[in-house]
Amino acid sequence: MLELYNTRTRKVDEFKPLKKGEILMYVCGPTVYGPGHIGHARTYTAFDIIRRYLEYKGNKVKYVVNITDVHDDMIKEANKQGITIFELADKNIELFVKDLEALGIKKPSVMPRVTEHIKEIIEMVKILQKKGFAYETDDGVYFAINKFPDYGKLSNLNMEERKSGTRVETDKYDKDNPMDFALWKKAKEGEPSWPSPWGEGRPGWHIECSVMSSKHLGKKIDIHGGAVDLVFPHHENEICQSEATYGEKPFVNYWMHAGFLNVRGEKMSKSLGNFITIPQLLKDFNPKAFRYFIASLHYRSRIDFNEEAIAQAEKNLEKWNNTIQELLAIENKIENPEVDELIKNAKEGFEEAMDEDFNLPNAWASLYEFQSAVNFLIAEKNLSKKNAESILNFLKELNQFFDFFDLEKKQEEKLSSDLMKLIEQRTKFKKEKNWAEADKIRDQLKAKGIELMDTPDGVKWKKI
Ligand code: AMP
Ligand code: ZN
Repeated sequence: MLELYNTRTRKVDEFKPLKKGEILMYVCGPTVYGPGHIGHARTYTAFDIIRRYLEYKGNKVKYVVNITDVHDDMIKEANKQGITIFELADKNIELFVKDLEALGIKKPSVMPRVTEHIKEIIEMVKILQKKGFAYETDDGVYFAINKFPDYGKLSNLNMEERKSGTRVETDKYDKDNPMDFALWKKAKEGEPSWPSPWGEGRPGWHIECSVMSSKHLGKKIDIHGGAVDLVFPHHENEICQSEATYGEKPFVNYWMHAGFLNVRGEKMSKSLGNFITIPQLLKDFNPKAFRYFIASLHYRSRIDFNEEAIAQAEKNLEKWNNTIQELLAIENKIENPEVDELIKNAKEGFEEAMDEDFNLPNAWASLYEFQSAVNFLIAEKNLSKKNAESILNFLKELNQFFDFFDLEKKQEEKLSSDLMKLIEQRTKFKKEKNWAEADKIRDQLKAKGIELMDTPDGVKWKKI
């Protein structure tokens, strides 16, 4: 049984999809005014692992991540660059898709763009106006939140406090309530716009997700995600738009929110100079180590991004990959009958933790225990080739959603014949107990980036 924390009910709920074996999942996508940043990388990696774990459990997942390609930030940046918002979006979407792939994130089933859904957006606003949930003002069309009694339920909003808190805002455009939000914005000079029953204009921010979610997944869906910053107002507003339009609720059964990512303890922002883009991340760090780092934490936990944490993740991943190489080299035929049980326990422990709201830290506890048991058996030479294959198959299964274990046998690297000769010479000196000359060669090789290790099986080398 899978359980997950549902922001809507504020508790851990049993997960029952609308249709058994087919999960409808939507995650709010990026605003593409620039390259993606590591906050996006965190959220999309976390949801990618969740999506792929659900697939691993035998479900078909239809996974939608939208693209916000019309927005104040888009207009500002396009003007700055002297291009249209469409050119700006095309450029950044191409980069974003490439970056997601480099981060090991599987392509969503659909990545719909707002500007390709203007007709459907206008239709929804028309319905809301006709049903009395929306009204027109001089600068746009607004949703009247007092017409929707459930407003504030998702974010546990105290409406009285909010109202008095926002009353100071000047109501220059005659909104009925300061908290009413724009469904449609009438065009201002120099802004991109589309014709509509309310004149030229463009959509407000929230309406896009109500429209694209119903168009690509249906009026009711299983999971809707994003990071916690979106609970209010974005997701609150999506609920009232969708439920008021279709008259059915809940529009989303399970609301899932990922924790925010900060950088060295501070909120990432351009002005603080701690803003890290995904291209920068890919340049400075191993993407698999980043994915391992995200996968080692709970999706709901707040993350502090720092170099040390990624370096640690890289080391841990390397340890797994070393274990894998050792397993790949085993040729022994004498089987250890306890290995299948060991794998079964690890798998059960792992899945049990994952099925409790994707609790990755607990799931890893069971994998680390497994890893040390396997390393012990390797050292004891107590595994057969078949045992090793079973263990590797288990890791391959985990890779269906982790996608960071390197399961290919590494090609033996060859040293040039000159260097090999030096190693042979050193072995000869050692045999002759000429330690001084042997050490000289060791230092000589070290200076060339080759480290020698004397093992019971003879001398081994590695690149340093
Ligand atoms: P935006 O591009 O700001 O519209 O955000 C797109 C998605 O990334 C949303 O799901 C956000 O919640 C998420 N997101 C934005 N900033 C961060 C961050 N610093 N940490 C985690 N997720 C973020
Ligand atoms: Zn959204």
